Amino acid sequence: MAQHIVIVGGGAAGTLTAIHLARDARSETKVAVIEPRAQLGTGVAYGTADDSHLLNVPASGMSAYDDDATSFTRWAGSSSDDFIARGRYADYLRTELSTHVADNSHITFRHVCATVNRIDVGKHGVAAPYTVITSDGQNIAADAIVLALSNAAPTVPDWVRSFTAAPVVADPWAPGALDQIGVDADVLCVGTGLTFVDIALSLARHGARVTGVSRHGLLPEVHETIGKLPRRQHLSHLRVMCCAGFAHKTTGAWLSLPYDPPPKWFGVHSLQHNSHSSCGMLVDTGTSIDTACQK
Ligand SMILES: Cc1cc2nc3c(=O)[nH]c(=O)nc-3n(C[C@H](O)[C@H](O)[C@H](O)COP(=O)(O)OP(=O)(O)OC[C@H]3O[C@@H](n4cnc5c(N)ncnc54)[C@H](O)[C@@H]3O)c2cc1C
Repeated sequence: MAQHIVIVGGGAAGTLTAIHLARDARSETKVAVIEPRAQLGTGVAYGTADDSHLLNVPASGMSAYDDDATSFTRWAGSSSDDFIARGRYADYLRTELSTHVADNSHITFRHVCATVNRIDVGKHGVAAPYTVITSDGQNIAADAIVLALSNAAPTVPDWVRSFTAAPVVADPWAPGALDQIGVDADVLCVGTGLTFVDIALSLARHGARVTGVSRHGLLPEVHETIGKLPRRQHLSHLRVMCCAGFAHKTTGAWLSLPYDPPPKWFGVHSLQHNSHSSCGMLVDTGTSIDTACQK
């Protein structure tokens, strides 16, 4: 009798789970990935279409398989220390999935483009221990369920909700979130981690002037070695000032500060990098941002 496996969430983790099931199944297995996004493998991290958003680890660290370390570099035609555009990683995952599904006659696979609203123990006219109920009204039988939901969407602090003087983007990764920011805008980014670096790169390319603030005032650590980049980053419009001591009560003051010349107390910690962060940014990116900070 077929085993029904339901994977809730088709980002990187859910798609990787499906890839391994499709590769390894030796008896009849029906796999359903329930994911509202049209394309599997994207999630927040790999859904970006901006080629300046790169993987934050070298290609050699991104294989889908423990027992085949060069799978990703072979697929990408890259060297082990290259940094590949993040959007391509989702393409890689989808390629691997479709290859294994096609090669394994034990596997039946489907992507249900919906959200899971509820999981019931017991039967709703389906012959399995669990029933997964989706936003489009399907009851899907499951013998086993994998929750690959990642983190919830960012929450919006109260002080952001009450701030109405300028448009606020609460989730920069939401589709089209940056579209409301005009060319040549002054943009304040609260937080100076890897998401800040990506958003600053995107906005700077469109001519926006970007200021980053965070409580520690540190930028992500840079990788020591670097391979091939898909193309050079263009950061001529980017100026970053990382400031320690950010407090929410000063929000209005921060946003109303003149951009040029920056007040003296900007940039106190601007050239430090966060050696405690688990991931880093590329030397090139880090150097460009440091240079921008020094202007
Ligand atoms: C900007 C950014 C860059 C990153 N870069 C890297 C990198 O270069 N290398 C690296 O190794 N890691 C990177 N990461 C870490 C990355 O998040 C993980 O590697 C990986 O993407 C996490 O996969 P996930 O499947 O857990 O989450 P996600 O890929 O976010 O997938 C979760 C999925 O669950 C779905 N979902 C949620 N709720 C439901 C529901 N109720 N019903 C159905 N579906 C649901 C969502 O739609 C989403 O697609 C990055 C993270 C971010 C935010």
